[in-house]
Amino acid sequence: MDLLLKEEHRQVREMARKFADDVVAPRARALDEKEEFPAEIVKQMAELGFLGLPFPEKYGGAGLDTLAYVIAVEEIARACGSTAITLAAHVSLGCGPVYMIGTEEQKERFLTPMAKGEAIGAFGLTEPNAGSDAAGTQSRAEKVDGGWRVNGSKIYITNGGVAKYITFTARTDSSKGTKGISAFIMDTATSGFRVGKREKKMGLRGSDTVEVVFEDCMLPAGNLL
Ligand SMILES: Cc1cc2nc3c(=O)[nH]c(=O)nc-3n(C[C@H](O)[C@H](O)[C@H](O)COP(=O)(O)OP(=O)(O)OC[C@H]3O[C@@H](n4cnc5c(N)ncnc54)[C@H](O)[C@@H]3O)c2cc1C
Repeated sequence: MDLLLKEEHRQVREMARKFADDVVAPRARALDEKEEFPAEIVKQMAELGFLGLPFPEKYGGAGLDTLAYVIAVEEIARACGSTAITLAAHVSLGCGPVYMIGTEEQKERFLTPMAKGEAIGAFGLTEPNAGSDAAGTQSRAEKVDGGWRVNGSKIYITNGGVAKYITFTARTDSSKGTKGISAFIMDTATSGFRVGKREKKMGLRGSDTVEVVFEDCMLPAGNLL
């Protein structure tokens, strides 16, 4: 397996392993017992560039690849699952959709601060009636003058209570079935957005897993991904 790794991957592994051993592991038990979000560790991961590892430098990332990112998550997870899922949800779920399907303008506005670690990202798909079957999505975004009005809620959202930006899915056309669901990105400071129930979990207890609620949230047209 090591034969597949380039020098940059070995360097990431060494750095992540040292960070996991020195900084993450000593705090993992307490974070889990107290159900405490690893805020200080996330700050340090941002300084190391982990929060934007697989994204191009022009968007504030480290310019490495998916393998380097996976290696970092693997090393962190060895020490603390909660910290690892916090990182993975930010990178894959928070930043990923903007990087994959966002416009240049959206990448500059949303991906860049997230990849730099200045803002945490989250992703909301799951609802009480939409999990494996995303077609059950009931949150809706109604087209109005100048943008969208969003109503609904999402459950089990990792980083939902600490995120600056949340990408989420909502029904935009109920006559079109699965084709009538779109993805949007919202600043969680938007009026009408609030964090609901916090999950009490059996594991990953330091990770932030919450319900998020949208009540007449107004989104500019440019926030449709
Ligand atoms: C710790 C944690 C963090 C999470 N973070 C996020 C997040 O950040 N964002 C987000 O949107 N969601 C998140 N989720 C939600 C997660 O994505 C959903 O739990 C998942 O999609 C499954 O949906 P569900 O819970 O509704 O289960 P269900 O879809 O109801 O599935 C229940 C069981 O039925 C099985 N099943 C379902 N459909 C079928 C079928 N057709 N045939 C056979 N078996 C089937 C499933 O495999 C599963 O075992 C998180 C969940 C957890 C536990």
